[in-house]
Amino acid sequence: MRPTQNKQRGMYSRRKVCRFCADSTMVIDYKDSATLKYFITERGRIVPRRISGNCAKHQKRIAQAVKRARNIAILPFTTIRH
Ligand SMILES: [Zn+2]
Repeated sequence: MRPTQNKQRGMYSRRKVCRFCADSTMVIDYKDSATLKYFITERGRIVPRRISGNCAKHQKRIAQAVKRARNIAILPFTTIRH
């Protein structure tokens, strides 16, 4: 796991439309942890919609994919750090 991703200004900037609506080539796949990790916090929690900028439809799919990924141990439930 990468320590901190700094110098990524604008990463959480407000988006007018959700990135899945904007880019139809992006698919939500529970096996695709590279995509999913953009929507979970460092502690393994799902990023709220107002921050992720996703629309309701895709946010729901993300949440579902994350939960599925957790069940098959692709993503952590929580990351415990000190
Ligand atoms: Zn969308």
